[in-house]
Amino acid sequence: MLLKAQNVHKSYIAGSGSVDVLRGVSLDLAEGQSLALMGESGSGKSTLLHLIGGLDVPSRGAIHISGALMSDPSDTKRAGLRRQKVGIIFQQFNLVPSLNVAANISFQAQLAGTHDADWCASLAQRMGLEDHLNAYPEALSGGQQQRVAIARALAAKPALILADEPTGNLDEDTAQTVLALLLEITRETSTALLMVTHSSAHAGVLDRQLVLKGGVIAT
Ligand code: ADP
Ligand code: MG
Repeated sequence: MLLKAQNVHKSYIAGSGSVDVLRGVSLDLAEGQSLALMGESGSGKSTLLHLIGGLDVPSRGAIHISGALMSDPSDTKRAGLRRQKVGIIFQQFNLVPSLNVAANISFQAQLAGTHDADWCASLAQRMGLEDHLNAYPEALSGGQQQRVAIARALAAKPALILADEPTGNLDEDTAQTVLALLLEITRETSTALLMVTHSSAHAGVLDRQLVLKGGVIAT
């Protein structure tokens, strides 16, 4: 199994007490599979995605990626596993404003020592960015910026892409184009995809759908 989350709990300290956001979430994702994560605003979708990406650690429970412990308390170990296995796409694109498109696509893979220039060029082409490689993010439309972010997430050939409402800032036509590209290329490369979305239409084109409710996966 590529991803295994077992009995994951997450509480945040809030004022004098604590808020139990996740109360025992378990889920599996196989290699190359796509999974939509839905649920009301505030239900903990982003929290769960951050834990799976090792950006934060659970209060209890374990997350394994390819058998390695992503919920390790060591930031360094989680960062290493993330670089090796995971690409993350955010709603707000999060491109580096001072880098051009080509550099935005490749810099993380370069840092990770897994840069492959031919692969980056082919990703840019697939994302329709070949005429914009020297442009800076501010000159791009939202749809173009998110296509850069998708290429960046795929540049290091991760086994798993985590996408948190990746089309939430795009108009519906652009959203559909971007989602179709994301699905096409993750399927082609057998990359697993875990995508948070509000749209049941968007969720429906993925292999599986789950709903987070009351801190657990609804059944
Ligand atoms: P979703 O992505 O489903 O909208 P989130 O995971 O962002 O939900 O948030 C779930 C709950 O956890 C919310 O009530 C939010 O206010 C709370 N929360 C999220 N991150 C933090 C944090 N760093 N500190 C305190 N509370 C947080
Ligand atoms: Mg969220």
